[in-house]
Amino acid sequence: MAYQENSAKGQSGGSGYCCTNLVAVATVALTLALGPSLCRAQETVQDPPRLASDRHTDSHIAETIRLVSAEHIRQTIEKLVSFQNRSTISPQDQESIKAGRGIGAARQWIKAEFERYSKDCGGCLEVKTDAFTEHPGDRISKPIEITNVYAVLRWSDPKQADRIVLVTGHYDSRNSDTFDGTDSAPGANDDGSGTAVSLECARVLSQTAGKLKFPATIVFLTVAGEEQGLNGSKHFAAMAKQQGWKIEAVLNNDIVGGNLGPGQDASVVRVFSEGLPAVASDAEIKRIRMLGGESDSNSRELARYIADVGRSYNAGVKPLLIFRLDRFLRGGDHYSFNQQGFAAVRFTEFREDYNHQHQNVRKDDANGIEYGDLPKFVDFDFVAHVARLNAATLASLASAPAPPASVKMLTMNLVNDTTLTWEPSVGASTYEVVWRSTNAADWEYVQTVTSGTRATVQVSKDNVIFGVRAVDAAGHRSLPVVPEPER
Ligand SMILES: [Zn+2]
Repeated sequence: MAYQENSAKGQSGGSGYCCTNLVAVATVALTLALGPSLCRAQETVQDPPRLASDRHTDSHIAETIRLVSAEHIRQTIEKLVSFQNRSTISPQDQESIKAGRGIGAARQWIKAEFERYSKDCGGCLEVKTDAFTEHPGDRISKPIEITNVYAVLRWSDPKQADRIVLVTGHYDSRNSDTFDGTDSAPGANDDGSGTAVSLECARVLSQTAGKLKFPATIVFLTVAGEEQGLNGSKHFAAMAKQQGWKIEAVLNNDIVGGNLGPGQDASVVRVFSEGLPAVASDAEIKRIRMLGGESDSNSRELARYIADVGRSYNAGVKPLLIFRLDRFLRGGDHYSFNQQGFAAVRFTEFREDYNHQHQNVRKDDANGIEYGDLPKFVDFDFVAHVARLNAATLASLASAPAPPASVKMLTMNLVNDTTLTWEPSVGASTYEVVWRSTNAADWEYVQTVTSGTRATVQVSKDNVIFGVRAVDAAGHRSLPVVPEPER
């Protein structure tokens, strides 16, 4: 069986809640306990299943992520380092490319690598570039050509062709000086590691694309210009928005090398997500404040989805959700996508070593510290684990139906239950209503709606946050959508 359910449904969680499950036509009614006596009064009583114990694993996806190779990732990172300086302002003339020096050579190699993977899967990847001239700015002294390189793994369901999930890393590097395009800037961790994750996801997912048949499209992106001001990702995200791409998720991997310094926790990878959407208008901010929706941006729902994937698959690393756009004094390419309204998160190792990023390669004899972003400080097994988590997330999202559209919560009457309605999703066979307490970080409860696109849950909308997600026949879940109140 391709799809296994490791469910603890029906088990008593001892949570203090009880519920009555009344299924009538398309209506699911759940009663949360208002008190022990009320629970006992109900004829059939069962605890609502907790989401955390309701894991789903697709054996093909589990098999695919096992193909991720730490050795292959090591080769990719060492190859990227061999170009010596991949600064966006490093040389990209034909002579430098031929000599294997600078960002032009790195770009050519990445493109050839995507093409090699495509050849291995019978041409399943479409390899493309997004090139443009960036005008002078804070960190760019003269007009410069910036090229993003990407590969597209096409949909298998024409009805879902325009649904896109995307993984990215930046292949440009820097040393202590953002204007230095010649001295060594190995960028093994920042961001050879993220570039390697995008490439490795392309390699393994293209290998099994025939078996998995993703209904949606997956884009494997590597961008330049990050260190000069997110230039590459800004251009790419704006192009996607302008061309009407329906990007459901962006996974930005930046500094996922698991630096081998003291204090590192290799069992987790941080996943940063914005709370209030960068694109929210004043009116939307007002509505979010009224609804208590400060922690329900599309990026936050994506982060929770990754937590679910982390529970369902043995990637070797667990996502540690950080409810914040990014680290202090730093930024990243996910922000470019957020600014166009796309759900985008950032993966970064638990503890960064600032001696091994944005530094000239050198040794300080006085304190014995070795500076520089060198491959010897990278934990290739850790990068492989992060790549597995990314690949499982991409595969899960691309296998799932489209998220339900027009999700509404009816608020015309003062009642203590909650009715939700939504439009049918392409590829869905059932739907799930999820909810959590307003002060809980992640979804706590889930209830399946076996038919129809309407559910009444006997939980007060005043006390919880709801979401609705679509599920296909094999159990793949879409991103949840938080309802809009409707009067
Ligand atoms: Zn970076």
